[in-house]
Amino acid sequence: MKKIALFPGSFDPFTKGHEDIVLRGLKLFDEIIIALGHNTKKTSRYFELNYMVEKIRSTFAAYPAIRVEPFQELTAEFARKHGARYILRGLRNTTDFEYENSISQVNRYLNNDLETVFLITSPEYAAINSSIIREVHQYGGDVSKFLPYKL
Ligand code: ADP
Repeated sequence: MKKIALFPGSFDPFTKGHEDIVLRGLKLFDEIIIALGHNTKKTSRYFELNYMVEKIRSTFAAYPAIRVEPFQELTAEFARKHGARYILRGLRNTTDFEYENSISQVNRYLNNDLETVFLITSPEYAAINSSIIREVHQYGGDVSKFLPYKL
């Protein structure tokens, strides 16, 4: 049976830190679905959803095992529909851990077959943070160094 993992996030924007998690995840899973959702804590997106979907698709164009899909439903439900038994997430620090700890438990409560697998961020990407990138970009700063594609 194929090992399919869902890598869900807001990816607003998708960064080199995210890319690192996906590429390392490919060593563990046969297929990875990068799923762009709406984080309910973040009211509106800075980078338009379809624009970001296209950027991520272009980043992984050479990888047939990677798919990119938008979604707007429970992560656990989206995983079930796509036959994904794993959720892939990155951990940068203890703040990520506190948050991830509870959502992974809720996701498994909602879908008992779903295991969350965490990869510790590579040190060179640990400081990369989507919200800081948005802020720098908003004021005209150059963020290209943090992104695996051209805006
Ligand atoms: P969410 O809004 O769901 O937290 P994000 O797009 O911020 O989504 O992050 C998606 C996943 O990527 C999360 O597991 C997050 O911890 C992880 N992540 C975010 N930034 C990095 C980074 N620089 N390196 C590795 N993982 C990261």
